[in-house]
Amino acid sequence: MSQQVVTRFAPSPTGFLHIGGARTALFNWLYARGRGGKFLLRIEDTDRERSTPEATAAILQGMAWLGLDHDGEVISQFARADRHAEVAHQLLAEGKAYKCFATQEEIAAFRDQAKAEGKSTLYRSPWRDAAEDTHPDAPYVVRIKAPQDGETVIRDEVQGDVTIKNQQLDDMILLRSDGTPVYMLAVVVDDHDMGVTHVIRGDDHLNNAARQMMIYTAMGWPLPVYAHIPLIHGADGKKLSKRHGALGAQEYQAMGYPAAGMRNYLARLGWSHGDDEFFTDAQAKDWFDFAGIGKSPARFDTKKLENLCGQHNAQADDAALRQEIEAYLVAANEPALDPQQSVNLEKAMFCLKDRAKTFPELLEKARFALASRPLDRDAKAEKALTNVSDGILEELTPHLQNVSWTRNDLEAALNAFAEAHDTKFGKLAAPLRAALAGRAVTPSVFDMMLVLGRDESLARIQDVAG
Ligand code: GLU
Repeated sequence: MSQQVVTRFAPSPTGFLHIGGARTALFNWLYARGRGGKFLLRIEDTDRERSTPEATAAILQGMAWLGLDHDGEVISQFARADRHAEVAHQLLAEGKAYKCFATQEEIAAFRDQAKAEGKSTLYRSPWRDAAEDTHPDAPYVVRIKAPQDGETVIRDEVQGDVTIKNQQLDDMILLRSDGTPVYMLAVVVDDHDMGVTHVIRGDDHLNNAARQMMIYTAMGWPLPVYAHIPLIHGADGKKLSKRHGALGAQEYQAMGYPAAGMRNYLARLGWSHGDDEFFTDAQAKDWFDFAGIGKSPARFDTKKLENLCGQHNAQADDAALRQEIEAYLVAANEPALDPQQSVNLEKAMFCLKDRAKTFPELLEKARFALASRPLDRDAKAEKALTNVSDGILEELTPHLQNVSWTRNDLEAALNAFAEAHDTKFGKLAAPLRAALAGRAVTPSVFDMMLVLGRDESLARIQDVAG
């Protein structure tokens, strides 16, 4: 039986969930969910100065918005500091780590000399091989005994084999002189204790992998599978940064992108499955693998994001979409819908959802269903009403009073009416749009009538007729 896949997302809570982080979380989620595995969440809050509870909350919210549910409790790395130190002490006891009493001055002097002699400035501590009984009663750090020759090969699922000469590795510090563990140790101990089998993260961590592997080896722990994914670049090909505009997952929520579209787009950002652009979560979980991850940085492309969002809106369930739009209104600090508007929005969804990429766009089209009488009208709508020949809407009213309120019968009635007036339905459509929605760009007249029902439709027509 093969081992259960366990992945994790391990953000540092120093800011919101940015797009790169969201994509890393998504890849880990897809990999685990597609294999009946577990997806864990660890908050790397060891940097007490830069970590904030607000950032943790923002990360959790961003993940919740994207639907990236994790298994088990959220793990705080800082809360596990004792356990990290325990591992360092074990390595010390086993002679795989040592106490280094070198002072800052001694280390600086070592480096100056190495530089002057044109040698590597990697610190080589004299305490590595010192006998226990020579140890002074002074502050010390705990350093791991790094391998000094040979090579370390990171077998990376995306980058291939990455070889690092062990001469380039120093005896990295595990415990600082105040006894606190360093980040690099914490990551390894946590990943091991959490049973993480696959480490999927940005390739800015590739160099750390070689150093982290030293700890696994010293502890005799099995290595995880590594997959270091290329970072995301902006449309200009430069590393994604604040310059490129909105970068927080929640900002995308507040701009009204549907989560399903965002997930689809983020999955395509650096990963592909043949020529498939649009896909469902189920397909993504089924298809996601390391082979599809590209080696060069993906470029963020808002047009593509919007296209995918439009396609996801079009095929979304009406009730679910209505709910997501209401959540968007909260996120965007917009007024909430009242219960009637909420019902109307859902009822109208069938004629709104296939033409809107974002929720603001959809809500603009939903105006007719959300507004109540008397409608305010924009200039184009006013013009459409001015152009209509006098009394025609008034005349139309009795025809609508008696017709059965179905698409077929409404179409037949309006076409017959237009014909009788020697005109085309198209000519009637503009004033009807203006009457029903107060706007010139709307869903079809029939769709609006069906959503509004007879009484409301007739009342709106009455409001402008005469
Ligand atoms: N906390 C690190 C970061 O936010 C991730 C560490 C890891 O994935 O191993 O970049």
